[in-house]
Amino acid sequence: MTPPLATRLSDPAALRLDSALQLLQQSGHAALPGAPGSVAWLQGVIDALCDLSSRDALTGLANRRAFEAALGREIDRVARSGEPALLLLLDIDHFKRVNDTYGHQAGDIVIQAVADILRDCVRPMDLPARIGGEEFAIVLPNCPPAFGQTVAERLRARLESQTIALGPQQHLGVTVSVGGAYAPQWVRSSPTLWIERADLQLYRAKAEGRNRTCLEPTPVSLVSAEEKGMLFGGPSWDQS
Ligand code: GH3
Ligand code: MG
Ligand code: MG
Repeated sequence: MTPPLATRLSDPAALRLDSALQLLQQSGHAALPGAPGSVAWLQGVIDALCDLSSRDALTGLANRRAFEAALGREIDRVARSGEPALLLLLDIDHFKRVNDTYGHQAGDIVIQAVADILRDCVRPMDLPARIGGEEFAIVLPNCPPAFGQTVAERLRARLESQTIALGPQQHLGVTVSVGGAYAPQWVRSSPTLWIERADLQLYRAKAEGRNRTCLEPTPVSLVSAEEKGMLFGGPSWDQS
């Protein structure tokens, strides 16, 4: 029979947390609060594991899973408030060449440096994430369309202007292509559909020569058939 919760809490060994604690230790997580086995300690373990499972190990940014969850919450917020929100996708240009020329470890340094620059460039309310190998995403809540291009272009230019140190004598410059799309206002969408739209713009930025920013031109009217099907309140809300 399973012992009561109080007994399990007061005996950390009974909780079988060994591998979880080992994982937290390996990831360099800060010390846990309270005495081992206390409720505060157990809550600390849960919080630390949640944090670990939502971060990308190389950069410390949000990982794809956490980012998609955040996008879902942002879609709900936009649909309720009508406030504009911008999703940017950034992909390092010709990154294979970095790996091929300088090695995979140097490639990792570049990815970390790009992540640091992005973290440094956004507002506290924006969420930057690493969603693939050398692909990043940022969701910018409350970003009016009039500012979107400026914000995206500022990020692109900042990355272009900054050199990355691979070692004491070796510096490297990289560029990114940026694609962006707005969440359709007053309309329920999905993280996948929103990402697909931004990805279309990223593809355009790559095709037009890289190291550039392409944003969806008319944020509100570009509502896909699938998104129309997700409109609040049925056909009377249809914006077609
Ligand atoms: P493009 O301008 O079209 O984006 O060209 P690209 O060379 O960046 O093309 P692509 O996106 O196909 O290449 C991405 C490369 O990133 C391929 C893969 O080996 C490398 N990569 C993926 N994840 C990592 C990682 O964690 N570290 C390192 N060093 N390289 C990675
Ligand atoms: Mg890529
Ligand atoms: Mg690339």
